[in-house]
Amino acid sequence: MIDPKNIADLEKVKMTGRLLDGSIPEPNSGCWIWVKADDKRYGSISIGGRLKKAHRVSFECFVADIPDGIKVCHRCDNTFCVNPEHLFLGTQSDNMKDMSSKGRNPMQLRPERSSLRAVRTVRYGVDHHLAKLTPEKIREIRSKYRPGATWNTPEGSAKALAREYGVNDRTITRIVRMETWIDAALKEQEKVG
Ligand SMILES: [Zn+2]
Repeated sequence: MIDPKNIADLEKVKMTGRLLDGSIPEPNSGCWIWVKADDKRYGSISIGGRLKKAHRVSFECFVADIPDGIKVCHRCDNTFCVNPEHLFLGTQSDNMKDMSSKGRNPMQLRPERSSLRAVRTVRYGVDHHLAKLTPEKIREIRSKYRPGATWNTPEGSAKALAREYGVNDRTITRIVRMETWIDAALKEQEKVG
């Protein structure tokens, strides 16, 4: 009998496709940054009309079912990451200890870093694994992007921008046609800054 709390096997196969499709591989960290919906702290994915945390779904699909009351924590410290190799099972207190030891618990930021902006930036991870992609750079990429760029006029092509910003082509494509957490981060920064 299949436990209805867990994702059925057939569903897992479909989910793995959605997880790969909904995330951007970040070559430096190896993180798979979830770029679909989010609840501001974690990526979200809809399964049968219910919103679940994307990293938990990834763990269930690629690694194992999650026992009751157990958290799925990030080794990489990027809560938007869904790379199963960066995920491990822990309790809430492991998660907090882990965050504190990495200085990510907003309560433990040093006073000079504890401005609202710092807390929000840390929360969104803009200054972490996606450090290359600051909100400013994302705006630049969008303004420089030319969908009609060709091999003899490569300026503004995804390839040219990828090289310029040190990310991969797919990342550029995502940025120019996305409704992602990075947009949310931009809006937050505008509000704060
Ligand atoms: Zn990661």
